[in-house]
Amino acid sequence: MKYYSTNKKTPNVTLEVAVIKGLSEDKGLFMPERIEKLPDEFFETIGTLSFQEIAFAVAQAFFGEDVETAALKKIVYETLPFDTPLVEVEPNIFSLELFHGPTLAFKDVGARFMSRMLAYYISRQSNTDAVNVLVATSGDTGSAVANGFLGVEGIRVFVLYPKGKVSKIQESQFTTLGQNITALEVDGTFDDCQRLVKSAFLDEELNRKMKLTSANSINVARFLPQAFYYFYAFSQLRSMHPKQTAEELGTVFCVPSGNFGNLTAGLVAKRMGLPVKRFIAANNRNDIFLQYLKTGIYSPKPSVATIANAMDVGDPSNFVRILDLYGHSHEAISKEISGVSYTDEQITETMRNCFVETGYLLDPHGACGYQALKDKLGENENGIFLETAHPAKFSETVMSIQGLNVEIPARLLEFMKNKKHSIPIGTDFEEFKTFLLK
Ligand SMILES: *Cc1c(COP(=O)(O)O)cnc(C)c1O
Repeated sequence: MKYYSTNKKTPNVTLEVAVIKGLSEDKGLFMPERIEKLPDEFFETIGTLSFQEIAFAVAQAFFGEDVETAALKKIVYETLPFDTPLVEVEPNIFSLELFHGPTLAFKDVGARFMSRMLAYYISRQSNTDAVNVLVATSGDTGSAVANGFLGVEGIRVFVLYPKGKVSKIQESQFTTLGQNITALEVDGTFDDCQRLVKSAFLDEELNRKMKLTSANSINVARFLPQAFYYFYAFSQLRSMHPKQTAEELGTVFCVPSGNFGNLTAGLVAKRMGLPVKRFIAANNRNDIFLQYLKTGIYSPKPSVATIANAMDVGDPSNFVRILDLYGHSHEAISKEISGVSYTDEQITETMRNCFVETGYLLDPHGACGYQALKDKLGENENGIFLETAHPAKFSETVMSIQGLNVEIPARLLEFMKNKKHSIPIGTDFEEFKTFLLK
């Protein structure tokens, strides 16, 4: 299958090129030419299938024409040795816990899948130069990507993060790994890190001399696999209500959103036939998408800092994919997706209330999703919010709320025990470029 650029100014490319390049030359994002519908029988029996079986069926619809069956199966099964359980928080409101992977956040799924897919293509290339993955992070992306790519042959990862601006737990998840992972501690802000990475992708000399790619959700191999868990969530809901038809279930997905990769993967799942009634995009005070829904005008803004910081995005990169999926129709988009936005005070209150009323501990991102369902879920609907990270990843926020406490899982503490290795760099691009070329 070929992939086109959302800017439509370049010829379509193969999956291999889309994965290795990440971004199209006209700076558009790649989209699959066709989105295959899965057969009715698949949805009838989905409640009996395992997560890996479901993911493999979905992966075949995306990538089956391009990746040999056995190799694809291996990629999927290696990506998902962990579960993403659906937990009933209160009647009709379910948490899809996406935090059971190695770094306790949903990005583990896409990062692991992408690393293995990239390794598959590298192993088939005659030019055996290593591929260099550059990733700027404010915390979560860096840890998921570094752990997803750890030890994968033929790939080097450079994680750029702002000095003193990521939590100790997050920092330990990408500075203690060694092997093919290099952490660069930038004496600047997250925006500086992002600018350095972007400049590298645009630098002609650098791209001539080394293979560079990006591992954030602009890459199709990271974003499409996120559709897997929407199907699996539905299958779990189905098993809980075996007497109801898919329609009667009235499934609503609520997605805490930043760059909108996760939500877009859900929209693709629906195109593949997943019986989803509608979607809600939950945001913190960075409400560009909500404003778009209200006015039909997309006006990106600088992001503001919130306690749900993985969603502090002022110009979501996957917005163009949503426009593309709906033929740029504001009406069509508004019919399928609604939006909400919460302040830090509202997020804190939600975390406290939810714990007091149900005993369920939310993280600040999942809290936006849960509250949106409390506010917007209709009768005869079942709401599933994506719990995108384990609350322990935001333990400082959780513990600052009266009455809340979170135990740090052993897996996170393990990272903190190891020695930090990072290379300090400035914000000057030439310095960064010289470093990469060395
Ligand atoms: C990355 C992230 C998000 C936002 O996901 P997008 O796909 O960028 O919309 C939400 N919550 C957490 C915890 C994240 O790490």
